[in-house]
Amino acid sequence: MKAYRMTAAGRASLVDVPVPVPGPGQVRLEVLAAGICHSDLSVLDSGAGAGWALPFTLGHEICGRVDMAGPGVDGWREGDQVVVHAPYGCGHCDRCASGRTNYCDDRRTLPAAGVGLGVDGGMARFVVVGQERLVAAPGLDPVVAATLTDAGLTSYHAVAECARNLSSPAAVAVVIGVGGLGHVAIGILRALTKARVVAVDTRDDALALGAECGAEAGARPDAARSEVDRLSAGRGADVVLDFVGAQNSIDLSVSLLRTAGELVLVGSGGGTLAVAKPGPQPSGAVIRMPFWGSRPELVEVVDLARSGRLTVRSTKFALDEAGRAFDELRQGRIVGRAVLVPGS
Ligand code: NAD
Ligand code: ZN
Ligand code: ZN
Repeated sequence: MKAYRMTAAGRASLVDVPVPVPGPGQVRLEVLAAGICHSDLSVLDSGAGAGWALPFTLGHEICGRVDMAGPGVDGWREGDQVVVHAPYGCGHCDRCASGRTNYCDDRRTLPAAGVGLGVDGGMARFVVVGQERLVAAPGLDPVVAATLTDAGLTSYHAVAECARNLSSPAAVAVVIGVGGLGHVAIGILRALTKARVVAVDTRDDALALGAECGAEAGARPDAARSEVDRLSAGRGADVVLDFVGAQNSIDLSVSLLRTAGELVLVGSGGGTLAVAKPGPQPSGAVIRMPFWGSRPELVEVVDLARSGRLTVRSTKFALDEAGRAFDELRQGRIVGRAVLVPGS
C-alpha cells in the first residue's frame, strides 16, 4: 500500500509499504480520513522528536473503519467507524490508567509522541493501532471525525481547563490563530462557556471562518486590543488561547490579559514566554500549556460533534496529493483543516 512517510529531516514522500497485520490486542483500520496538523510540519522541519526512529508514516488525526482484529480484541467489529486516541503513554502510570496518556509520567522518554508521531500513523490506506485507542464515531462524516482527534480534542481540553473563568456572559475569550485548531476551539468555547469570543488572525479568510464558528468579533493582531476593550469595557480578556505560539502572538496574548486572566499557550511557534514577578503579566495571571487531551475527553468531543454544535471546515486531498497539501498548509493557504482521504 502507499503511505506518506517521513524519511529524513525535512523530507517526506509517498512510498510503498506492506499492509500491516494486527498483533494481539490490535486492530487494523482502513483509513477513511487523516488530518494534517501544523505539528506535522514542525516535526518534519525539526527532524522529528529525540529518539524517534525514521522512517515512519505520518498522520495522528485518524478516522477509520475496523478492517481486521488481532487475537484477543474484544468489543469491536469489522465495519465499525472509529476515531483514534493517538497520544502515546507508558500504559502503566496512573495518568495512562485513566486514559490521560497525553500526560504520561514517562512522556519525555517514550519512543514516540503518538500514533503518526514516531510510529506509523494514518496517512496510508491502513493503520494498525491498539484497541484501547479506539473511540466509536458512528454517523459522523469521517473527514469531520478525523479532525476531532487533535484539532477538536486539543481545543476541547484547552477550553475545559479554563472554562471556570468563562462562566459569566460578560467574560471575554480571545482565540489567536483561527486555523485547524483555532476554528474548532471557537465552536467549543460557544458550546461549553458563556464567553464572548474575539477571533484574531493575520488572514481575512480565517477571520471569516471565525465568525462562522461563532466569534462575536474578529481582528487582525494590531486591532485586537481595541476589539477586546470594546467587548470587555476596557478590562481585558479573561482568557487568551494562543494557537500560534510565536513571539508576536505570545506578547500580544500577555498584553490582552485582564487581571487574574488565563493565558493558554497551545501553539508551538517557537516564541518564549518570560515570566517575572512583578513582570509583564498582570497580577494573578494563570499560565497553562495544555498538550492534546485524554481518551475520555475524546469521547466527549465526539458526542459534542454528533449533537451538531461544532462547525468544522475542511479541505480534502487524495493521499497522492499529500505533498501538495503539506505545501499549502506551509504557505498558509488552508482555511480550516486539510484532510487526506486515502480511499478517494
Ligand atoms: P494552522 O496552520 O492550521 O493554523 C494557524 C493559524 O494561525 C492560521 O490561520 C494562521 O493564519 C494564523 N497565524 C499565524 N501566525 C499568526 C500570528 N502571528 N497572529 C495571528 N494569527 C496567526 O495550525 P494548527 O494545526 O491549528 O496548529 C496551531 C498550533 O498548535 C501549531 O503550532 C501546532 O504545532 C500546535 N499544536 C499544539 C497542540 C498541543 O497539544 N498543544 C496540538 C496540536 C497542534
Ligand atoms: Zn497535531
Ligand atoms: Zn504513563
